[in-house]
Amino acid sequence: PVGVCVLITPWNYPLLQLSWKLAPALAAGCTCVIKPSEVTPLTSVLLVRLAEEAGVPAGVVNILLGTGPSVGAPLAEHGGVDMVSFTGGLATGQAIIRASAATVKRVAVELGGKNPNIVFADAVDGVGFETVVDNALTAVFLHSGQVCSAGARLIVEESVADAVVAEIAARADAIRIGNGLDPASQTGPLVSEAHRAKIEDFVASARAEGARVTAGGCRPDAPDLARGYFYRPTVLDGCHRGMRVVREETFGPLLTVERFRTEHEAVELGNDTTYGLAGAVWSRDTARAHRVAAALRHGTVWINDFGPYVPGAEWGGMKRSGNGRELGPTGLHEYQEQKHIWHNTAPAPARWF
Ligand code: NAD
Repeated sequence: PVGVCVLITPWNYPLLQLSWKLAPALAAGCTCVIKPSEVTPLTSVLLVRLAEEAGVPAGVVNILLGTGPSVGAPLAEHGGVDMVSFTGGLATGQAIIRASAATVKRVAVELGGKNPNIVFADAVDGVGFETVVDNALTAVFLHSGQVCSAGARLIVEESVADAVVAEIAARADAIRIGNGLDPASQTGPLVSEAHRAKIEDFVASARAEGARVTAGGCRPDAPDLARGYFYRPTVLDGCHRGMRVVREETFGPLLTVERFRTEHEAVELGNDTTYGLAGAVWSRDTARAHRVAAALRHGTVWINDFGPYVPGAEWGGMKRSGNGRELGPTGLHEYQEQKHIWHNTAPAPARWF
């Protein structure tokens, strides 16, 4: 085992993110200090209580509550910590890597994404128009887009783009926004007022840079949604890769649309990002789908699907999406040291000198 592991998690899937870290850390024989997001700490507290009830010895699973600067940062610097496993935003990940440098501790970071969803024209007939459109909607609007692997960049072949985008926009406008506790709601609010302001700023910048808003682009006007940080699912057509909304992770319900003509161009667009977390390719042509999947510099690529996380297969990013892997055999190895013990069974003088 690596030793004492600090597990720092984000707010958006708090129980899931912690489980992906805690299970392999314990299986490897490590002890843990959990630092959940200050925004959503309760499920982590409950999980630690369950560990106590299950008889995990005292001191093996620990939890410290508080903000990043007051609790996370001192843990990342601490000389008694052997490893930090972090999931969260790029700037925080960079700060943790810097803070851990003095003690040369092991750091695994899982950061944001700007994930391409690439649709070839032959998918519309071969896989099905409804399937392509429906999955494109789920890819970006699930959890109001507050998902690291959200398919926020639709990269679609020009010959089918108008039809695909028109249907996505119509369906986006029909998504039922409401209280997350109401079973009739299909999507809920954003996490905070500040986050909604950030999303509004992205839409303003996209408009200023020439994007066409074909769905949403504003807050919902229903009076019962005035309390809460709601924002309508938004489709921004006519985007290009120079735009801020295409380059940066928005972490909100914003879909940008870019068009391509050739396979080469599709790959080039899909790779033109500083992130490299996940992406998808939709095509009836299996050889092409695998060629494109192999060429994409993203830690996970789905073919004719978007979003399955498989416990037996590694999850993690390339480039600025991170340097760690969770799940799969590598997810366990993150918490293990490789060590070599040599036992000479017939010791003798070395006879060099
Ligand atoms: P965040 O970076 O603001 O916070 C994440 C955690 O880091 C929190 O627990 C926070 O308290 C802590 N923290 C903040 N400053 C710190 C510091 N200086 N030192 C140590 N810890 C510190 O991220 P967030 O807003 O909670 O989550 C959203 C981000 O997480 C998005 O960028 C999203 O893409 C990313 N994310 C990535 C994955 C993945 O698997 N790659 C999964 C979920 C979320």
